[in-house]
Amino acid sequence: MNDEIVIAEALNGEVRIHIARTTKLVEEARKHHNCMPTSIAALGRTLTATSIMASDLKNNYETITCIINGNGPSGTILAQANGEGKVRGFIGNPGLHYVREDGHLDVARAVGVNGNLTVIRDSGLKEAFTGVAPLQSGEIGDDFTYYFAISEQIPSVVGVGVLVDVDYSIKASGGLIYQLMPKATEETIVYCEELAKRQKPVSTLISEGKDLEDIIIDYFPDAKILNHRNIKWYCDCSKEKFAYSLMTLADEDLDELIEEDKGAEVRCEYCNTFYNFSTQELKEIKAKKING
Ligand SMILES: [Zn+2]
Repeated sequence: MNDEIVIAEALNGEVRIHIARTTKLVEEARKHHNCMPTSIAALGRTLTATSIMASDLKNNYETITCIINGNGPSGTILAQANGEGKVRGFIGNPGLHYVREDGHLDVARAVGVNGNLTVIRDSGLKEAFTGVAPLQSGEIGDDFTYYFAISEQIPSVVGVGVLVDVDYSIKASGGLIYQLMPKATEETIVYCEELAKRQKPVSTLISEGKDLEDIIIDYFPDAKILNHRNIKWYCDCSKEKFAYSLMTLADEDLDELIEEDKGAEVRCEYCNTFYNFSTQELKEIKAKKING
């Protein structure tokens, strides 16, 4: 089953629901960055929440970038998604494998809690909007819940989860966010609070093969499905783009790469792809730079 997001509304339009299956894109992230289980759980949860936020963007070129830095061993976690459903991201330390006593991956220990979740909304036109909220637990779902409450004033329930298989591949990954609209009644608020306590983790439901629409209907029987959005792992880096950025180097730096290093190897931080430039290619870049 391909990754996707289903958007719905329920309870007389008082609740907006987003549910995402991100199993394939999180598996791609794991392979690109060679992640161990706790690292990919942290990155996968962040990729999932970010994908869901981006599913409301109006234009393909708009992006949402979420950055988590809790000063824990994971270092910075960054996820970026655009209005076309293309998602990419990285984690500072992909090699973490912490397991709690109950057998669950210890994401909070990896992420830390002394820091912020920063969200950058870039519409490509005017200045980007940046919202910041202090981390609450480092479990990521709670941290997004708090971000929505204080930075966007939207009461929300955020559940994001990644199930890692015994061979470390991704068994299931997904997220469920429901948000209360300003007109929500007390009855609706109570219903959502009760639901949050009894619902199964969405990654478990996805691993059981449950259909996303069915999950929504199970929880909100009157739900009206509004939209389906495809999402996938995709990085738009290329050798041409890196050649262009090498042109911004000073001549002395390019000369050093040509004469001393005999070439250059550059890495895309987002997808961990390496691009090699030979001395000949670097000389051409330098020549173009002088001419251009
Ligand atoms: Zn890349």
